[in-house]
Amino acid sequence: MKKNNSWILKGGRIIDPANHIDRIGDLWIRDGRIVEPDSFDPALAETVNLHGLVVAPGLIDMHVHLRQPGNTDAETIRTGTMAAAAGGFTSIVAMPNTSPCADNAATIQYIKEFAAREGVVKVLPSGALSVGRKGEEMSPVGSLKAAGVVALTDDGSCIQNNELMRHVVEYAGNFGLPVLEHCEDKFLAGDGVMHEGYWSVLLGMKAMPAAAEEVIVARDIILSRLASWKIHIQHVSSAQSVKMIRAAQADGVRISAEATPHHIALTDVEIKKFDTNYKMNPPLRSEEDRMAVIEGLQDGTIAVIATDHAPHTQTAKLVEFDHAPFGIIGLETAVPVALTELYHKNYLSLSQVISKFTVGPASILGIDAGTLSVGAAADVTIIDPDCEYIVDVNDFYSKSRNTPFNGYAAKGRTMATFVDGVCIFSLLKESEPEDEESK
Ligand SMILES: [Zn+2]
Repeated sequence: MKKNNSWILKGGRIIDPANHIDRIGDLWIRDGRIVEPDSFDPALAETVNLHGLVVAPGLIDMHVHLRQPGNTDAETIRTGTMAAAAGGFTSIVAMPNTSPCADNAATIQYIKEFAAREGVVKVLPSGALSVGRKGEEMSPVGSLKAAGVVALTDDGSCIQNNELMRHVVEYAGNFGLPVLEHCEDKFLAGDGVMHEGYWSVLLGMKAMPAAAEEVIVARDIILSRLASWKIHIQHVSSAQSVKMIRAAQADGVRISAEATPHHIALTDVEIKKFDTNYKMNPPLRSEEDRMAVIEGLQDGTIAVIATDHAPHTQTAKLVEFDHAPFGIIGLETAVPVALTELYHKNYLSLSQVISKFTVGPASILGIDAGTLSVGAAADVTIIDPDCEYIVDVNDFYSKSRNTPFNGYAAKGRTMATFVDGVCIFSLLKESEPEDEESK
């Protein structure tokens, strides 16, 4: 049966940062596309009353680990995209650190075909920068581009050889593919498991200094200029990194950045709990670093919020802190955490928060998404910015449970998600067109 893809979304607060729109009104969707109001017979569409809710472009997460192929115990394309839908994301960029590694056209083809069959949101694959993400030899950039990748990244690893990195960035530029960089000098990071600072000394833990990130941020600013091409810094976590990126942007270098909800909300003080759900890479850092990341979001240095959704099974995470894998899931907590920490604490306006999830990533990736322009695909996210609730991992669609936000008191929640005009997730009550209070 064909699913309904024509709607009149009535009376919501339409926020479309790409078009500088923030107004109360109706959004008309016909056959999966945004159309001019009153451009067709209302009887052909389903009407939903969204009084009190925000109508935003479908959110984009440019940093997601779907774990398929290779580690389907932790997540699958099916469960990962369901978690994305529940989080309000309509497009997600899949990281290439799968098994086999997405460093070849066949693996990209597999991901695309599986996503088309089983995925509920749009999966945009990325390809590895180097063969096997080993940092030794360039991946086949041309055939990855032909296979449909939207970006190149060795995320989880970082090419240490500056000469190789220079050439990969130049090649990526020739093919118009943005480079997404996990900044980590592996010698400085060593076998650290947390941020080097007050708490690592107090707890006696092996630590990695912020300099392990900063050295590569500095290197990438230099190489971006040399290669005249875009490098996007993933999960920026240090004050010094933000400062360098800001100065480089002012100087015309094509460098962009993302921050994760956990680096916005949490600091290294949490490590005293010895809970492996606080172990990620880059690690949670100091309060000074956290505030610098927020300032970077405020002044636009950091244009994107991305989750770094990194599922791990309970078995993998329920071990000593030193031995646990890095990473936490984030798709289903990104919107509530961003709204609670940034909007409700008056750091960012609602429109600014939404821009970090829409026009921000869309313009860095160069993809046709992230707006509610007439004619655009009707990827739409409905948000209740004031809904208060307690995050419960048992409600998650993700196959994994590794989050530090279980029990988090959130203000703000995704209420419904539409992809190409089809409602793929909804917490809205059955539509009651005349009930002004329905929300
Ligand atoms: Zn990473």
